[in-house]
Amino acid sequence: MSGDPASYDLFVIGGGINGCGVARDAAGRGYQAALAEQGDLAEGTSSRSTKLVHGGLRYLEHFAFGMVREALRERETLMSIAPHLVRPLRFVLPVLPGGRPAWLLRFGLFLYDHLGGREKLPGTEALDLRDVPEGAPLRPSLRKGFAFSDCRVDDSRLVVLNARDAADRGATIFTRTRVLRAWAEQGAWRVVLRDATGGDREVAARLIVNAAGPWAGAALGAVLGVQAAPRLRLVRGSHIVTRKLFDHDSAYLFQAGDGRVVFAIPYCDDFTLIGTTDADFSGAPDEAAITPDEIAYLCAVASGFFARPVGAGDVVWSFSGVRPLRDDGAGDAAQASRDYVLDERRVEGAPLLSILGGKLTAFRHVAEQVADRAALSLGARGKRWTAAARLPGGDLSRGDLAAFARDLVAHYPFLTAREAARLAGAYGTVAGTILGAAKKREDLGRDFGLGLSEAEVEHLVTREWARTAEDILWRRSKLGLWAPPEMAGALDEWLATHSEGA
Ligand code: FAD
Repeated sequence: MSGDPASYDLFVIGGGINGCGVARDAAGRGYQAALAEQGDLAEGTSSRSTKLVHGGLRYLEHFAFGMVREALRERETLMSIAPHLVRPLRFVLPVLPGGRPAWLLRFGLFLYDHLGGREKLPGTEALDLRDVPEGAPLRPSLRKGFAFSDCRVDDSRLVVLNARDAADRGATIFTRTRVLRAWAEQGAWRVVLRDATGGDREVAARLIVNAAGPWAGAALGAVLGVQAAPRLRLVRGSHIVTRKLFDHDSAYLFQAGDGRVVFAIPYCDDFTLIGTTDADFSGAPDEAAITPDEIAYLCAVASGFFARPVGAGDVVWSFSGVRPLRDDGAGDAAQASRDYVLDERRVEGAPLLSILGGKLTAFRHVAEQVADRAALSLGARGKRWTAAARLPGGDLSRGDLAAFARDLVAHYPFLTAREAARLAGAYGTVAGTILGAAKKREDLGRDFGLGLSEAEVEHLVTREWARTAEDILWRRSKLGLWAPPEMAGALDEWLATHSEGA
């Protein structure tokens, strides 16, 4: 560590959705922003969510009207700035004999429809489950239900595209780089970063944003040396993935017997995603893993609704994430608030902002709040701008993803409809840049299988910070769900000889 360290206005710890959202907002306002992520982008909680951009119907039961309203507004905004990643999804909520009464569900859904200025999505309708395709896979005792709207999202791609846009606007993104420690010196920060080779470097920053998600408490204490840090409650949530359990495009919201709700969502064409659980957690966040009890619980809830029982043998994949919730003293983990808090403090005069809690859905709004607060310390530069600025690839004409996928097939007839749909959904209009002037499949270089070409992998390395087969198969895409073991080996081999800085 020698010479003058690089110097930033704002340094972000953590490359999850909150950190990347903040880096993007700040860079777009004209601040010199940098971000360090200890692993791959989105490797923490932000790739392990239920993948919904939603208001959170169940939070109405906790009277969290403000949070739900804000999330519903964000749902509209995110659909327009990232129509390739944030897509409408209809949910079917069966009325459970002995469960919440139909009038209460109707009332909650009425509020849900009207609280957040819904413009693009259809409203609630009552269903006779005996008459609609969504009723067919369910137990015959379930006769009534409601259909309502929310959105699904590719959570890890949302993170990466925020990082991409941040970098395009001048931010520096360090991946596989841990913030080891930071200390205040004359009202500003010195930060020590350790990269994947074990090498350390020092940088300077006027303000630090702690967006370390479930590690935020550890970052405050061990990295930033803050005593008496606010408390976080860590709650593990797990999901299972099965081969697809039904043949239509709607999802289900099931009321579990313990008062919780469990989603069953059509996932990646061939699968169903079922989750989640809520269990207090005290270990290292990256070691969270589903337990046999959680698998049994999720299978039991699903089997209570689907005519065909779901068992542990149906599970083809699972994942667990840790919610960083602010500790509001709620008894039950499922009841703890999903709202966020911005903790603002000065350490020997140096400003520090920590994001505690929150939801994927709220990230843009949170980032805006953080940048507003940062402006008070750094001096105002640009104004709020992210509500109307598309994420990379989001400039689809009329926001019509299906039409764009059809256009891709027309331009590149060697693509199957399924391949085009995957590329359109992952990259939006940037898919055209990846495919370039290709006239035939071979023009895209080596074929790694499942429609993954060398041209796409090159894009992921040079523009999306991918470094390993896992980054590509499980976070930049979900091709890992189908990939044979040798595909990961072939990718890692290629990456070892071709990786370069993004
Ligand atoms: P993270 O994504 O965890 O990012 C923090 C990052 O900081 C990590 O990548 C970590 O590696 C890095 N880091 C930590 N310490 C350091 C350090 N010293 N140096 C460098 N990097 C560091 N929200 C929704 O809106 N919709 C949903 O459907 C939804 N479902 C969920 C389901 C589950 C099971 C869970 C757990 C959460 C869900 N959420 C959902 C909430 C949402 O996923 C989280 O609020 C959000 O992902 C948190 O993002 P983050 O950036 O704060 O944290």
